[in-house]
Amino acid sequence: MSANLYFTKEHEQVRKALRDFVTKRINPFVDEWEEKGAAPLHDLFKEMGELGFLGIRYDERYGGLGLDYWYETVMLEEIARARCGGVPMAIAVQTNMATPAIAEFGSDYLKDKYLRAAIRGEMVGAIAVTEPDAGSDVAALRTFARKEGDVYVLNGSKTYITNGTQADFLTLLARTSEAPGYHSFSLFVVPTALPGFKISRKLDKLGMRSSDTAELYFDDLRIPAENRIGQEGEGFIYQMQQFQHERFSALPICYIGAEEMIRETVAYIKKRIVFGKPLIKKQVLRHRLVDWLSEIECLRQLTYHIVRLKMAGQDATKEISMGKLIGGRLLNQVADGCLQMYGGLGFMNEMHVSRFFRDARLISIGAGASEVMSDIIAKLEGF
Ligand SMILES: Cc1cc2nc3c(=O)[nH]c(=O)nc-3n(C[C@H](O)[C@H](O)[C@H](O)COP(=O)(O)OP(=O)(O)OC[C@H]3O[C@@H](n4cnc5c(N)ncnc54)[C@H](O)[C@@H]3O)c2cc1C
Repeated sequence: MSANLYFTKEHEQVRKALRDFVTKRINPFVDEWEEKGAAPLHDLFKEMGELGFLGIRYDERYGGLGLDYWYETVMLEEIARARCGGVPMAIAVQTNMATPAIAEFGSDYLKDKYLRAAIRGEMVGAIAVTEPDAGSDVAALRTFARKEGDVYVLNGSKTYITNGTQADFLTLLARTSEAPGYHSFSLFVVPTALPGFKISRKLDKLGMRSSDTAELYFDDLRIPAENRIGQEGEGFIYQMQQFQHERFSALPICYIGAEEMIRETVAYIKKRIVFGKPLIKKQVLRHRLVDWLSEIECLRQLTYHIVRLKMAGQDATKEISMGKLIGGRLLNQVADGCLQMYGGLGFMNEMHVSRFFRDARLISIGAGASEVMSDIIAKLEGF
């Protein structure tokens, strides 16, 4: 398989450890967590932290493994084998959404206190950007952090926050100035134990049901100034960079998730007899499956190209946006098409394909909708 060109024996050892973990410590519990509407993240992350899975790319000084983007890709490929989208998403929030900016722009104090705890799995993190009136248009957000001596007083609300009912800290983007433009925002680490933090409600969703999603409210929450990540006024820029880690994490989740679902569907239609023959004998279905596998391979190779760009220290915003755009579309096509091949059985909640269909829908919306990806690509292409 072409993936072997990129991965050494050491990568494969990490892959095996992760695969074992997903097989033994995640998959047997997925049905229960889907039913409950959340995975027990403190327990799960503690176990993952002890095995080093939450700090693969991070500095050894803060408890990370100090490995590179290829190892991170192995981690993302393997968590994508969970039999739901919700748990991989919760893990990716911890590793690729709530912590990259702390690692890249945070002070030693923030890294020592929050990054270290997130890597060990002793604290659960969440990323808090979206608000009721600001999703695709991030700069429209209104949550305000007003500087008062050595604290920032935070007021406002955030919505659709993954891990939001369990988080110990939020990596949160707020306005720190009313001036127009992109230099009026700052990024903070907000401990949820502080007075003034409220969970307004836990949201009920179409899919990703093993991942908890919350609406949050801040009422005069006093954030210590030392919890600001990097420079005041630069938070929007930091968050745009942090989004690249978040969006990248969607790519392996798309190609592995789609590939696994195809394999499962093929196993089913090899056995399902329709008009006297196994359904797999229908050329139209075989060709459809092969079209998807070909597109999956393109997405995988684009992902590996992105890893090469990142390893060379080059900007990969355009390629990551392309991958997220294509990946979301592909995952939805495969989910819909595989469900169709299962017929009525696919429509039953007890079937993995029906969960896959519901979970897949998020990829084209979350972490920047497809249209937002298209706008970014068009801008970078100069039109
Ligand atoms: C399950 C779930 C988990 C989430 N987790 C988090 C989280 O942990 N943290 C967080 O901060 N946010 C989170 N989000 C929020 C997510 O990132 C936003 O929903 C997403 O960015 C879209 O914003 P919106 O919902 O406000 O849609 P809107 O901005 O209202 O856009 C609606 C639709 O308009 C279209 N559109 C948008 N822009 C354009 C354009 N330029 N051109 C043409 N069409 C356009 C798109 O199709 C889009 O879906 C989560 C969302 C969900 C559903």
